[in-house]
Amino acid sequence: MRYVSTRGRAPALDFGEVLLAGLAPDGGLYVPESWPRFSAAEIRELRGLPYAELAAAVMAPFVDGAVADLPGLCRAAYADFAHCAVVPLVQLETELFVLELFHGPTLAFKDLAMQLLGRLFEQVLDGESLTIIGATSGDTGAAAIEALKGRRGITIAILHPEGRVSEVQRRQMTTVAAANVGNFAIRGSFDDCQDLVKAMFADQDLRSELRVSAVNSINWARIAAQIPYYFAAALALGAPDRAVAFSVPTGNFGNVLAGWAAARMGLPIARLVIACNRNDILARFLAANDMSLRPVEPSLSPSMDIQVSSNFERLLFELLERNAAETERIMRGFRAEGRMAVPDGAWRRMQPLFCGFALDDAGTEAEIGRLYRASGYLADPHSAIGIAGARARRPERGVAMIAAATAHPAKFPAAVERASGVSPALPAQLADLYQRPERCEVVANDLAAVEAKVCALAGKNPARKSIAESDMR
Ligand SMILES: *Cc1c(COP(=O)(O)O)cnc(C)c1O
Repeated sequence: MRYVSTRGRAPALDFGEVLLAGLAPDGGLYVPESWPRFSAAEIRELRGLPYAELAAAVMAPFVDGAVADLPGLCRAAYADFAHCAVVPLVQLETELFVLELFHGPTLAFKDLAMQLLGRLFEQVLDGESLTIIGATSGDTGAAAIEALKGRRGITIAILHPEGRVSEVQRRQMTTVAAANVGNFAIRGSFDDCQDLVKAMFADQDLRSELRVSAVNSINWARIAAQIPYYFAAALALGAPDRAVAFSVPTGNFGNVLAGWAAARMGLPIARLVIACNRNDILARFLAANDMSLRPVEPSLSPSMDIQVSSNFERLLFELLERNAAETERIMRGFRAEGRMAVPDGAWRRMQPLFCGFALDDAGTEAEIGRLYRASGYLADPHSAIGIAGARARRPERGVAMIAAATAHPAKFPAAVERASGVSPALPAQLADLYQRPERCEVVANDLAAVEAKVCALAGKNPARKSIAESDMR
């Protein structure tokens, strides 16, 4: 399988190359040259497989021999999940289910892709060195650190805005003791962190010292690794002989795009609900073809606080029937004008499958409380938005609706307790999180200062041993 850029001006690459490249050099995103298709009989054969085997079978056409022993890597990636089903389904009502995607080591759905990515990187690099640099507002950084800690040849440097991630999120990053992990708390905002990362990627001097890469959600391998759980849930509820629908708490559009890909590959999906918080650009787009930027408003579901959903470009490319020049023109216009001019025909092509849903903080708290009282189920704010979207946009009878639960309630304890009166406990594997020592450096919002730290971490500078441990309590 080869991969092409949505902007059409980058060389086609194979899976291993796309894994290391992240963004395409023309500014576009890599997509498969063609979509693999599973017949109903082939889907039926996947029934009853353990999750790791299913994941390897669904991803095989994308990886296409670029890595040896994909089933073995999948088994290792999902072995430590806290539930033997890896992604269990919980029934809330007749034909209403929750797909729990938060049983990985950092309690958010990002572990499903990241745990596999860490192992894919190690194998594709085969001993060569690579420095992963990323900015995080919480979940991605924790999942990436947990997946890449101690991996051969890999250094990982994560920037987060000092004092602006939740305590659980910070501790999940800073209590990892591996020598190849660096946590840098930047005196600035999340946007400052992202700007520093972009500047490092653009700095040719740094790049001549270090081979750098990213693990943000524009990386194709992350999307590929999220497709299998759509198959797992649908198979459990009767696919391919019965259609299902999904409601997906959405930020950067990576998760729901994987659902679209599953449908494209032949899984009978009747509806995909794009569930948003008050940052509802995608819901407005679906309702009225209005993709206009507004300022990002902080909410109880911070991982969905986003206005520009980078992965939407991949869907746009398909809606435009793979016209790369048109994709590039529309994306450039969006950056320049803050409004995306999607042709009516492309917008209409999205309608049969997708529908939008948005819920503000008050509605989110009300849903957490209602759900707990009605069924004893505790949902985190992100998952609660997905569940509310599932209830509001249920398809016709006979089609099961599945809400993706993207974080464990203990990851956002304050909001959950306020809304339900119950304080969610951390699962056993993280029970001592508040006792573990933290390791993190506070760094000025200054490119040279951050680059010096990253080089030192990667061993490109004798200053390495001077990395101080600071106690952030
Ligand atoms: C990242 C994240 C999301 C958003 O997922 P996208 O793939 O960016 O749309 C939703 N919920 C949680 C808990 C997350 O960590």
